[in-house]
Amino acid sequence: MEIKRILFATDFSEGSSHALPYAVDLAKRYGAKLYFVHVVYDVAKTAGWHVPHVSLDEIYRDMEKSARAELEKSFIDEMRGLGDIEHAVLKGTPYEEITKFVVDNKIDLVVLGTHGRRGIDRVLFGSTAEQIVRNAPCPVLSVRLPKH
Ligand code: AMP
Repeated sequence: MEIKRILFATDFSEGSSHALPYAVDLAKRYGAKLYFVHVVYDVAKTAGWHVPHVSLDEIYRDMEKSARAELEKSFIDEMRGLGDIEHAVLKGTPYEEITKFVVDNKIDLVVLGTHGRRGIDRVLFGSTAEQIVRNAPCPVLSVRLPKH
């Protein structure tokens, strides 16, 4: 078994943060590259809304910029001691973008939280974790919060 590339998927929720040490520890043990990936929801695509492109593009640029800053600053402590890391902010439907990223980058293992953000997101978009488990060509480690 070769684990050279690990993808950690985060929505910045408590659930995904709880999964992070597993991704970091496995990356260290296997000497693997660790990808920190966040997907900004493409609301227009998901809900089929028509929104003027100019304003949407601007909003997405801001969201992607904030997400990248958040990715880089959130995991500073955990990143220490890791050799090879990459941050990626994608746009679209999270499970589709993550599955595509897995294929394009030959990811060997995905680490994510069993649960992410609660409430309206979940009602609207369904379970990202479940869809990634169903669609990703590689193993997926889904980490549950103790209270669940
Ligand atoms: P969910 O299935 O939406 O409850 O989320 C489960 C897990 O999928 C989260 O703990 C994250 O690890 C991952 N995830 C959910 N949404 C995103 C997103 N937008 N970008 C990256 N990872 C995500």
